[in-house]
Amino acid sequence: FKINMDEMEVLGELGKGNYGSVQKVFHRPTGVMMAMKEIRLELDESKLNGIIMELDILHRAVAPEIVEFYGAFTIESCVYYCMEFMDAGSLDKLTGVRALPAKTATANDTAAPAEPHVPEPVLRRITAAIVRGLRFLKDELQIMHRDVKPTNVLMNSKGEVKLCDFGVSGQLEKSLAKTNIGCQSYMAPERIKGESQNQVSTYTVSSDVWSVGLSIIEIATGTYPYPPETFANVFAQLTAIVNGAAPTLPDTYSAEARDFVAKCLLKDPNTRPTYAQLLEHPFLAGTHADDDIDMAAWVTGQMEMYANRQVVPLAHVEIE
Ligand code: ATP
Ligand code: MG
Repeated sequence: FKINMDEMEVLGELGKGNYGSVQKVFHRPTGVMMAMKEIRLELDESKLNGIIMELDILHRAVAPEIVEFYGAFTIESCVYYCMEFMDAGSLDKLTGVRALPAKTATANDTAAPAEPHVPEPVLRRITAAIVRGLRFLKDELQIMHRDVKPTNVLMNSKGEVKLCDFGVSGQLEKSLAKTNIGCQSYMAPERIKGESQNQVSTYTVSSDVWSVGLSIIEIATGTYPYPPETFANVFAQLTAIVNGAAPTLPDTYSAEARDFVAKCLLKDPNTRPTYAQLLEHPFLAGTHADDDIDMAAWVTGQMEMYANRQVVPLAHVEIE
């Protein structure tokens, strides 16, 4: 079925990204709550229609670890993309990334994590879902994600973890790339090097594995792993990623967890594990004493902890 704007009741904004905003909407004909992403593009009608056609393969992206796609349409120069509403939001919000500590905080406190770390069994479940989702995209749809980061990993109050915003449309990627800003890069070193030399295709699926490693550290600690001095200076940040040592998971986590992340963050893409290898890694494979963790309870606790907490907008983080 085709959906359109007339069928939507807009209920409020869920968040803003670099390219537009995401609204919570109620789809009247089906009674389904949805998240509707608006992407503003300076493109002619035929290009916009091309994007809508390319997005159609999203109807085949049905897996427990992938946010469901309901349909897309255009109005003037905007693409509206409707997907499953995830009521717990993205992992950056659930783990306090950029959230000010309760009460007396100022923007300068953001370097230190505001709350205790994500417990290892929770981190294991989140990581396993991300890796299974990426393997599904690669094996079943022959696509790589291209934008793995905590804001693109969503959870609901059932405790489910799902990926969104993966690169299905070449045309859409091309239009967005031109306006790519973002103060925190999850791009692998080889991808940064390739783009600086204008070789857009020098990276492969193992570049997503790098982004998984970086995202896991950020989710675990509540902090983007490169130093805050680099937030305001894109060049310094990209230089640190390409030339510096890779960040590591703190030693409050098990040796298996730290080894898993270290393997994702190997600087040479050819030495990073495949998704199959990651799923067989001791951090994820086999049974663990704490496997009965209640993800729904964890996520509800986090939602309460960060509800109404003020968030520092990235562009406003001040550097001393
Ligand atoms: P970027 O623009 O670089 O992709 P982003 O992922 O933060 O950054 P958006 O994809 O526009 O930007 O999403 C904005 C916010 O909306 C996200 O951070 C997330 O918290 C929220 N969001 C997105 N999709 C959903 C969804 N399906 N359900 C609930 N919340 C969502
Ligand atoms: Mg997103």
